[in-house]
Amino acid sequence: MVQTDEERKAKAREYYQRPEVKAKERVRKQKPEYKAKAREYQQKPETKAKARERYQRPENKAKQREYEQRLETKEKRREYKQKPETKEKRREYKQKPEYKAKAREYQQKPETKERVRKYNQRPETKEKKREYNQRPETKVKKKEYQQKPENKTKARERNQKPETKEKRKEYNQRPETKAKKKEYQQKPENKAKARERNQRPENKAKKRVRTREYKLKVKTDVFTHYSRKLSHSDIPCCRCCGFNDFLIMLEIDHITNRKNSIHKKGLDGHAMYSYLQNEGFPSGYQVLCANCNSAKRDSGKCPHESAH
Ligand SMILES: [Zn+2]
Ligand SMILES: [Zn+2]
Repeated sequence: MVQTDEERKAKAREYYQRPEVKAKERVRKQKPEYKAKAREYQQKPETKAKARERYQRPENKAKQREYEQRLETKEKRREYKQKPETKEKRREYKQKPEYKAKAREYQQKPETKERVRKYNQRPETKEKKREYNQRPETKVKKKEYQQKPENKTKARERNQKPETKEKRKEYNQRPETKAKKKEYQQKPENKAKARERNQRPENKAKKRVRTREYKLKVKTDVFTHYSRKLSHSDIPCCRCCGFNDFLIMLEIDHITNRKNSIHKKGLDGHAMYSYLQNEGFPSGYQVLCANCNSAKRDSGKCPHESAH
């Protein structure tokens, strides 16, 4: 009796549907030698091409889609992903240079970036992220990561980049950022923390240095301004004798009488320089060296003037 192709196929199908055959097949497919053979077969370019071709057929695509949508498929997949060995495999796979390269390439694509941005902006994503960041174990992990020397270096480098600085500046100047910061600083626990931080010797020393530098900058700016305007000098100098060796030996003098000045009495040193800077360098002031200034103070004018 001659069988047609169709008949043979139908028979084979019927045979493989039998429960006892199915069970046998299952056992056979679990054997390492079968698995190895199957893997080898699947790796062949022609097999891959065939599979691809089969997968591209509309009817199979639809089937596949339908399969993917099934709840039990999703559940199975979730279960599979949760298995420790799957996770381990995945971790290993992600460590491979070729995977990393591919992932980087994919992440660099404009459409990927766009998709990620959209995803990150969804309220539910933000909420999830917030919740995740609040978890104690996340905080611990983050701290651990930040403490590693190589990550510290990376962070420092990133912070030094002009575009990062620019972004940070923009962010810090937003009203809502300022409000948040203020709110944070107002909390008693944060106030206490700040106090504690400020009391540390190394921070005290740092602050002293910063204050000194700031005061010197204000002084230099003010003295430079008046020297430029009245003595046509780019460096601070005495308007009377031209002395410019040391900034510390130069002083601000009220050209007419100090009593006529509009600022409050007893304004001196840094307070005086700050005042002049904040007022936009009002006229009526000049730079003199200590000698010329004291001579002018004692006798109304410096002897240099009559000597000229
Ligand atoms: Zn002088
Ligand atoms: Zn003089």
